[in-house]
Amino acid sequence: MAAILAAFVATQLAIAVTTVYLHRALAHRALTVAPAVALPFRVICWMTTGQRPREWVAVHRKHHAATDTPEDPHSPAQLGFWKVQLGNVGLYKSAAADPTNLRKYARDIPSDNLDRLLFDHALLGLGVGIVIMMMFTWALGLGLLTGLIAALLHAGLYVMLAASVNAVGHTFGKRPHANSATNGQLLAFVTGGEGFHNNHHAAPTSARFSLQRGEIDPGWWLVQALTKLKLARVRHDEVHLKAA
Ligand SMILES: [Zn+2]
Ligand SMILES: [Zn+2]
Repeated sequence: MAAILAAFVATQLAIAVTTVYLHRALAHRALTVAPAVALPFRVICWMTTGQRPREWVAVHRKHHAATDTPEDPHSPAQLGFWKVQLGNVGLYKSAAADPTNLRKYARDIPSDNLDRLLFDHALLGLGVGIVIMMMFTWALGLGLLTGLIAALLHAGLYVMLAASVNAVGHTFGKRPHANSATNGQLLAFVTGGEGFHNNHHAAPTSARFSLQRGEIDPGWWLVQALTKLKLARVRHDEVHLKAA
């Protein structure tokens, strides 16, 4: 039980960084975060996901540029639902490894010294993350093994939830706006708001993913908290779209 709880916390931390920093701030420039926030975001991203921000951005921008066409890196419409839901990591890796994608879609995010020293070394980051998790559970009297199990559970959970945004979020749910992505409140709850993927494709530069009445976007709460603390600035916060 403790391992599941610890894994859930780690996954939500990774998801918060993914949706607010990698997705909304870097890929779409929907908000700008202060350096005091960007650095911890980069550290958490490195230790909980091992993803390189510029690669994530390149793959994601390509997805927007070629949504559900043969060029889309992870389209369930092209590849089938299960190939994206279960094979998302492989699809991501092959798109991220293509230098053409990086040149074309992430020119504004060059690697810096910290990337070369630390953040480009995914296995090192994940290793540090596992050790911290084990030390954390050990300090709580739950033992080192609980931490190791929690770290493995977190990895599986994060991989499946990230895949869900690409697979479920283009297959099942509501389509209030005219695009191939879908909205699902349940998915949005567990993915920091990413489940409102139809809204997001309709208004990619909006820092808020909840557009219709009653929709709850947890990622937007974090954006608002950072904005109130003057640690982030939203590009625009009023989206005017007519539901189809
Ligand atoms: Zn999409
Ligand atoms: Zn996007």
